[in-house]
Amino acid sequence: MTQIQKVNIGISTCLLGEKVRFDGGHKRNRFITDVLSDHFSWVPVCPEVEVGMSTPRESLRLAEDGESVKMIAPKSGQDWTERMEAYSEKRVQSLKAHQLRGYILKKDSPSCGMERVRLYNQHNMAERKGIGLYAKSLMKAYPNLPMEEEGRLQDPRLRENFITRVFTYDRWCRLRDQDVQPKDLVNFHTAHKMLLLAHSETIYRDMGPLVAQAGSAKMETLLDQYEEKLMAALKTVASPKRHTNVLYHLAGFLKEHLNQDEKQELLNAIEEYRQNWVPLITPLTLMQHHFRSLKHAWINTQVYLDPFPRSLALRSSI
Ligand code: SF4
Repeated sequence: MTQIQKVNIGISTCLLGEKVRFDGGHKRNRFITDVLSDHFSWVPVCPEVEVGMSTPRESLRLAEDGESVKMIAPKSGQDWTERMEAYSEKRVQSLKAHQLRGYILKKDSPSCGMERVRLYNQHNMAERKGIGLYAKSLMKAYPNLPMEEEGRLQDPRLRENFITRVFTYDRWCRLRDQDVQPKDLVNFHTAHKMLLLAHSETIYRDMGPLVAQAGSAKMETLLDQYEEKLMAALKTVASPKRHTNVLYHLAGFLKEHLNQDEKQELLNAIEEYRQNWVPLITPLTLMQHHFRSLKHAWINTQVYLDPFPRSLALRSSI
């Protein structure tokens, strides 16, 4: 049996079922612990416990204070802002050693929430516009690292998007760990063309001229720019319309290879996907069946056909 190479993913500890929450409980997420654990090695962080808070503990909230935001324990009035900010800055730097390929954060938390965390004004009214203090440091330190909240992973499209980003980022980081030559960047870009097209045609079009500079521009600067665009493009969720566009594009390679009935069967499968009658895996499986006998060198490099482990079955629900 092939050994699965796991990728390192940072995670809010409570999502793994550890009882670290303010109320002494946890927020175990079954998809994370039962499905993703087969592919991910977890690097758990509970900022509140690590900064020195007890479990159970008084709940915390984010509160506006003029232009700044404070982390307050409202019952006691204790202010944790400075300690949490100092801890977060240091802790996110220590994560470099783990070579993370993604991060899953607990939504709504004043420490871990990425967005829409309750932020209280001076009238004690909350608006959902805050960012957890630890999450803020994390996003600042690793702007290209795929991050997502566990709540959003319930949505099949957002889930597929996050996993695609994680495995693409992993391939990219493994490339960057080597002495990257211009041809390596060209090959990487070529292999990801259809995947990029399914996510953002606009950014994909910007990336071509960038890759064309390989060999003349300073390589490190070029790689930084490419990485930024790559991860920005994939952040755009691939819509059925864009997938359909890519499927038709790929089907074009089979024009001379298929007989009339086979062609019609493939076009029907793509149309049924477009109409939302069948999942993406249906036309893709049929197409891959034909590509196996076509043996087309360029098609065989396309990551779009297999962007993450098939056992995750993510394309069966989008
Ligand atoms: S949300 Fe973050 S700080 Fe709160 S219990 Fe979970 S890991 Fe700890």
